[in-house]
Amino acid sequence: MNKYDSEVISSILDREGYSFTSSPREADIILLNTCSVRAHAEQRVFSKIGSLRKIRLKNPHLILGICGCMAKHLGDKLLRKFPYLDLVVGPNDLDQLPRILREKKRPVISINTPNRSEFCTSLLREDKIKAYVPINFGCSNYCSYCVVPYVRGELKSRDKEEIIEEIRRLAKQGYKEITLLGQNVTQYGRDLRNGINLSNLLEEIEAIDGLKRIRFLTPHPKDVTDELISAMSRLSKVCEHIHLPAQAGSNKILRKMNRGYTVEDYKQIVERMRERIPHLSITTDLIVGFPGEDEHDFEETLKLVEDIRFSASFTFKFSKRPGTKAANLKPEIPEDVKKDRLRILNDVQRGITLDLNKRLIGTRQEVLAECINPKNERQLIGKTGQGKVVIFSGDSGLIGEIVHVKVKDARLWSLLGELS
Ligand code: SAH
Ligand code: SF4
Repeated sequence: MNKYDSEVISSILDREGYSFTSSPREADIILLNTCSVRAHAEQRVFSKIGSLRKIRLKNPHLILGICGCMAKHLGDKLLRKFPYLDLVVGPNDLDQLPRILREKKRPVISINTPNRSEFCTSLLREDKIKAYVPINFGCSNYCSYCVVPYVRGELKSRDKEEIIEEIRRLAKQGYKEITLLGQNVTQYGRDLRNGINLSNLLEEIEAIDGLKRIRFLTPHPKDVTDELISAMSRLSKVCEHIHLPAQAGSNKILRKMNRGYTVEDYKQIVERMRERIPHLSITTDLIVGFPGEDEHDFEETLKLVEDIRFSASFTFKFSKRPGTKAANLKPEIPEDVKKDRLRILNDVQRGITLDLNKRLIGTRQEVLAECINPKNERQLIGKTGQGKVVIFSGDSGLIGEIVHVKVKDARLWSLLGELS
């Protein structure tokens, strides 16, 4: 979502007549798009703002701003910490940027718009083959550790016709793959109250000519329905991959996280999906060191990883986010325990990922060729429907095509193959 928001910001600046430079010293405006999900993301931005201080103070015309979730989360605290900042603009206020840029008085702080309005048509997009298309903004789930509902607001779905129109336009421009975006895409349409949901949205997108692949990110286990599983299995453009964050393998912890499912529910969903969708690849997000997580709880998370055999896991140490319920939960887990658990979990997952990749050696995969390999111009990089990265020799004319590749070798993060 943040990558998408950065494209929104770039597009607004482009429309306002700005052009792009990779050198901060040449810039008339520098906007940092930011994330508040974990403290680490915020710390990196703090040091980035600090490193731009000199440039800002030397150049009185330079506009230096913070956009996105940190702007909303920290508001005028940012101005107190960094008095040389000119703009603080929240994720739901990005459409105010043209007005804000024209204002003479600085600093400007704009963070109070509760929900995002529709301002995402005809973007300057980095990629020419794949595009992100948001279908809902915000989140009303309030997982106890998560800052997203506070910074991005409550769930708000986009109008279906707008989405379809946008994807038709992208397909006409030559885009082959779209990823539908939302903090919880499985709740798409709930607030529209007109019977529209993710399953029937996917159905309509399937019919769009020229488009080859459809992905969506992120579904929530408690909202995965049989209707969705059936749509995924029936619709040929919907990829055989789901990123389904489990967060933990212990029911005690899942309850404290306010996730709304048990580990048994999670396993049952996976079973139902695997029955209907052959070759389904499942990836996940996991948090270690949530308050009160004891050795036994952590072992249950390891067991879940071993039982499901995820293709990959995005793993995080619990990070205390001010304003969330979990920020007050006790007992907190010491940093070194969190570190150890993260390392053990990652080791287990790496073994599984490599093993699953090796099993693909000798198979023939459908690969969407996406770009030239920056490390070897005679090679292309693409992805399988499962989302695995494949490197193979091929001509740049194949970019945007779905080609068949025989897998010859497997590494942790990529497969090596040849056209067949
Ligand atoms: N809406 C998505 C993603 C939310 S943020 C979802 O519900 O799955 C992406 C991931 O960051 C989450 O899935 C979670 O694993 C992790 N995360 C969120 N808040 C966190 C926190 N306070 N500490 C550690 N990890 C966190
Ligand atoms: Fe955060 Fe939970 Fe919403 Fe995901 S579903 S954005 S983890 S509150």
